[in-house]
Amino acid sequence: MYLSKLFIPLLKETPSEAKIKSHQLMLRAGMVKQSSTGIYSWLPLGFKIMKKIEQIVREEQNKIGAQELLMPTIQSAEIWKESGRYDEYGEEMLRIKDRQGKEMLYGPTNEELITEIFRSSVKSYKSLPQLLYHIQWKFRDELRPRFGVMRCKEFFMKDAYSFDLNDDEAKKSYNKMFFAYLNTFKRLGLTAIPMEADTGPIGGDLSHEFVILAETGESQIYSDKRIFDIDINKHDNSDGSIKELRKKYDEFYAVTDDKFKKEDFEKKVKKENQLITKGIEVGHIFYFGDKYSKPLDCSVDLQDGKKVNVKMGSYGIGVSRLVGAIIEAKFNNNIMKWPFSVSPFDIAIIPSLQKNDKSNYLKAEKVYKFLVKNKIDVLFDDTNEHLSAKFKKFDLIGIPYQIILGSKSTEDKFEFKEINGKTENLSSEEIKNKLLNKRNFN
Ligand code: ATP
Ligand code: MG
Repeated sequence: MYLSKLFIPLLKETPSEAKIKSHQLMLRAGMVKQSSTGIYSWLPLGFKIMKKIEQIVREEQNKIGAQELLMPTIQSAEIWKESGRYDEYGEEMLRIKDRQGKEMLYGPTNEELITEIFRSSVKSYKSLPQLLYHIQWKFRDELRPRFGVMRCKEFFMKDAYSFDLNDDEAKKSYNKMFFAYLNTFKRLGLTAIPMEADTGPIGGDLSHEFVILAETGESQIYSDKRIFDIDINKHDNSDGSIKELRKKYDEFYAVTDDKFKKEDFEKKVKKENQLITKGIEVGHIFYFGDKYSKPLDCSVDLQDGKKVNVKMGSYGIGVSRLVGAIIEAKFNNNIMKWPFSVSPFDIAIIPSLQKNDKSNYLKAEKVYKFLVKNKIDVLFDDTNEHLSAKFKKFDLIGIPYQIILGSKSTEDKFEFKEINGKTENLSSEEIKNKLLNKRNFN
């Protein structure tokens, strides 16, 4: 892609309404544009990053055997009346009527709808377990939308639902998701800590919030520092290995404010291991048994002819919130650096232009064409700006690698720079191999 052709409305000034770094940068880098309070349009750069995050989330769901489907954004109020949540949900729910006067709503979550799908098509215990998910827009009329895409009214969420025959089986599904979440956040370059949490309006008795540390987070967290040393790479996705991993996490105190008890914290965590800080919730998983399957009469026939309500869990990841959350976690010294796995481009090529001398530009274009031919996603800065202005722009966009064609480049070796990192001189072939390796690793 040529930079001159990219639709990227950069802002010179930081908009005053943006209070935190991620919101400021997303507006300045032309990633999103507010369309009304808490509702955003995703412009090409932001959209591309969000789609990459979505794809990683999808791959990790598929790896544990979850199957993707797509439910609509608009739901009928009826099923919510059946579960009893239509009144309970309050003003966060956007309620609408169609032209027949039928009560509808813009889904804030999908427990009811997936249960309705399940009950009408699954009759026998033999069809269990099932793990289904979709990645779809949600709407919650938040009282105070703020911090850009971090807390907005319309947001993009992955939500998964598990269906099992009994508690033991259901806990295995829960643990699988727990494992998938840790891997997902790791691939996004984040260390997310599962913290015991309250279940809130979703209900149930077992729940973890996945939280990443950030000063600007809205969750207050209390944890044992040693939880950060757990190595998930030592575990595979067999039930036994995942159970062991859950046990390791359970050994260390880690809770958000709703569950915090000072006496417990001080008793369980030595002073030198205590960590009290802020975090951003990027995912939340719940096990709630038959909370929905009972009122919605979702059951399966057992071998002996008896019926049993299926045991369910639900599992959310804030895909659009993650775009902001990654910025909050990775931003450093006014320079943005995307993890390679979600970077909007693999690399940027920046030629230094001298008056009446097109040689750097021509060399750069040759490298560009070579990399594109090798399926590398390159942003080529073909503008006439001064090099320092170009660098400022690329610090804002945050593509992790740059090729700079200036005084340090020779005929066939080019300055290859990692943002916030080292510089080396490499040939086009070496650059290609480096990036392809990096991609395989991710
Ligand atoms: P929060 O406590 O932040 O309000 P929640 O507990 O209400 O979130 P869940 O129902 O657990 O949210 O939703 C799953 C995930 O969706 C959350 O972990 C979060 O990442 C994301 N999410 C929830 N509400 C919003 C929102 N208003 N804007 C953006 N993302 C959101
Ligand atoms: Mg939550």
